[in-house]
Order: sequence, then structure tokens, then C-alpha cells
Amino acid sequence: MRLSRYFLPLLRDTPKEAEIVSHRLMLRAGMIRQQSAGIYSWLPLGLRVLDKISRIVREEQNRSGAIEILMPTIQSADLWRESGRYDAYGKEMLRIKDRHDREMLYGPTNEEMVTDIFRSYVKSYKDLPLNLYHIQWKFRDEVRPRFGVMRGREFLMKDAYSFDIDQASARHAYNRMFTAYLRTFARLGLKAIPMRADTGPIGGDLSHEFIVLASTGESQVFCHKDYLDFETPAIDTDFDSVDGLQRLVDNWTSLYAATEEMHEAADFDAIPADKQLSARGIEVGHIFYFGTKYSEPMGATVTGPDGTLSPVHMGSYGIGPSRLVAALIEASHDESGIIWPDEIAPFDIAVLNLKAGDAATDGACEQLYKTLLARGYDALYDDTDTRPGGKFATADLIGAPWQIIVGPKGLAEGKVEIKRRAGGERELVSLEAALDRFK
Ligand code: ATP
Ligand code: MG
Ligand code: MG
Ligand code: MG
Repeated sequence: MRLSRYFLPLLRDTPKEAEIVSHRLMLRAGMIRQQSAGIYSWLPLGLRVLDKISRIVREEQNRSGAIEILMPTIQSADLWRESGRYDAYGKEMLRIKDRHDREMLYGPTNEEMVTDIFRSYVKSYKDLPLNLYHIQWKFRDEVRPRFGVMRGREFLMKDAYSFDIDQASARHAYNRMFTAYLRTFARLGLKAIPMRADTGPIGGDLSHEFIVLASTGESQVFCHKDYLDFETPAIDTDFDSVDGLQRLVDNWTSLYAATEEMHEAADFDAIPADKQLSARGIEVGHIFYFGTKYSEPMGATVTGPDGTLSPVHMGSYGIGPSRLVAALIEASHDESGIIWPDEIAPFDIAVLNLKAGDAATDGACEQLYKTLLARGYDALYDDTDTRPGGKFATADLIGAPWQIIVGPKGLAEGKVEIKRRAGGERELVSLEAALDRFK
């Protein structure tokens, strides 16, 4: 992408309304624009990151055996009456009437709808286990939308729903998602700790929230420090191994970790003092097992091996990709801007032409830019006529992991500069060596 032809509406001044650093940086870097309270447009730079996060989420869902579908954002109130949640959900639900006066709603979650899909097609234990997920916009009329996309009213959610014949196999489905979540957050470059959590209006008794520690987080959490050094499940984890996954989950739940609602002070105090971690955290994912809470009232039943009919056991599993964009920035930035982890950076490399219009620098930059694109890198070429200081500031603000800086002085000696955004290390190398670096 050539910056001169891109749409990157940067803000010079720090927006007053933004209370936390991720919100400030997302506005300044032209990633999002607020359209109403808690409702945002995703501008090109923001959308790139959101898409990269969704891609990783999707890959790990697929790896664990979940199957992608896409359900609509608008749902019928009647479905929610079947589960009893139409009245129970309260003011967070945005209720709408269509032209025929039918009651509709903008989905805050999809347990009812996916249960309806399931009951329409699946009748036998032979078709289980099944896990269906989608990545779709949700709407919750939050009392206090704030911190930008961290707590939006319209937000993107990956929600998966598992269906099993009995509690034991549902537990395995839960463990699959638990493992997939550990891998997902690790790939995003985040340390997310699974913590015992309240099940809230979803109901059920087995639940973990995945929490990223951050001073601006809205949850108070308590855990054993050693979780910060726990190992991420490997890429070749066998998701079909019941015992293997149970061991993995047992290990990841062996130490104390709980959100405020589930906190037991006595258990926490039993941890050695130097291992106690009491901190603020951001809820980036949440998994539940809730048994037959929806299948029973909604008549989602399957025949078992002995021919008897019983309601299917279910769990649901959410991740917030849009909240993750903000959480990632909270976790990785400095005073100059965002520092994207390599896997989700909107651009891998920024090429900075310090003297656009100069034949030699233009030529070298074009060669770099085109070669990088041909090799599959997302490169952003700053070909504008802004002064160098402005280019450095922009590149640091938007946080591409690498910068290649090309100026007439260096080029006179055949050199360009490579800068690593994270540590700020700089290196003068030849044009060829720079290209060799990005094979
Ligand atoms: P919170 O406690 O922050 O209100 P929640 O417990 O209501 O979140 P869940 O119903 O567990 O949220 O939804 C699953 C995931 O969706 C959350 O873990 C979070 O990542 C994301 N999410 C929920 N509400 C919002 C929101 N208002 N804005 C952005 N992401 C959200
Ligand atoms: Mg909520
Ligand atoms: Mg919550
Ligand atoms: Mg939750």
C-alpha cells in the first residue's frame, strides 16, 4: 500500500474523550471512528487488525474441530421466549419491531438460535459431538459503553456452541475450547489466564474467563503468579485425546485463579505471599458448560445408543475480537504509539522514503516496496512528501514491527536503515542485505 493513496486519517491531537491509552491510540492512528455511543466504524488500518485477529481465532477454532457457520444479527423475539430469556435479558437487549409489528432483536448472543438450528437437523447421538461457531457482530445496550471498542455496544464476537450426548463428552468439548483458547491468545502475543468465573445470565456451573492483566482492565482478579510462565499447548495437541486434554486443563487449573465474583480470600491467602497476584484484568474470552439449560425448554433432543430421547448437553464459548484489538494495544505500546506483535500487525513493514522526488531514493524505495509485496509481505510505503520527522512519528504511531528507512545520505553509501519498532534497534545495511532480511 502506498501511503499517498491510502486512507489513514491520523489525528494530531489526543482526543479528550479517550480515557485509556488504547482508545487514544486507536483514534490517533485512524483505526476507528465513533458513530454513536459505543458504535464504531472500522477504518482501513483498524479493519486490517480486526481481520488478522479473526483469522487466528478462526484457525484455532477449526483446529479444535469446531465448524464455522454464520447466523444473522437480527433474531426473532419468539425464539427467546422459548428459553425464557426474552424477558430475563433486560435492558442490554436492543428490541426492534419490523413493519408488520413483529418483535425482533439485535442478537446479544446466539444460544437460542443455534439450538434452533441444531434441533431442526440433528436427531441422533451418531451425529455428535458437534461444535458450531460464527464470528458475527453483537449488540448489547451497555449502561456505560466506554474505552472505545473495549466496551462497545456493537462489537464483534466469536461464539461457539457445543452439543454432546452426555456430561462427560460435553466436558471434553469444554476442554477442547479451553485448549483452543490458550493457543489463540498465545498466538496473539497475549498472556491470558483462565480464571474460575461466574456464569451470569448464561447459566450453568462450569465456567472460565480468560483474562489479560492490564491496569485499565475492568475486572478485579486474583491468581497465582506462576500462571504467567505456564506453557502454551503445542500446535500438534491431539484434540481427540480425552485424557490428554483433561490433563492439560487440570494442569492449567491446578493453581488459584479467580475473578472477583468467585474469589475465596482464604484460598488466595494460602498462596505464598510472593506468588500472590491481585490485579486488574480484561476479559477477552469466556467459556461455559450449561448442560441442558436451553435444549430442555427448546426441545433439542437426540436419541442415545439405547434408543431413548434426551436433551443435548451444551456449552458456549465467546471471544471478543474487537475488544482484543484494544487489549493488544493496552499490552503493547510506548509513548510513541502502538507496537503490534508480528502476527497481527496491520502492516509487516513500513518503507520510509525520506526524500520523495529524489530519483535515487524513489528508485531504491520502489525496488524495496515491490520486492516485499512480491514476497508476500504487507508493506506500507510512505511515499508522501512529508518531512522525515513526520514520517518517523507516523510509522511509530501505527506500529508496523519493522521499518526500512531510505534517505539520500545513506543511499550515497549504498545503505538503508532497518529499525525494529519494539526495541528501537537500528541497523545500517546495504539495500541487498535489507531485502535478504525479508525473504
Ligand atoms: P463483560 O463482563 O466485559 O461485560 P461479558 O461477560 O458480558 O463481558 P460474554 O457474554 O462472556 O461477555 O461475551 C464473550 C466475550 O465477548 C467477552 O469475553 C468479551 O471478549 C466480548 N465482549 C462482551 N461484551 C463486550 C462489549 N461490550 N464490547 C466488546 N466486547 C465485548
Ligand atoms: Mg457484559
Ligand atoms: Mg464478564
Ligand atoms: Mg463473560
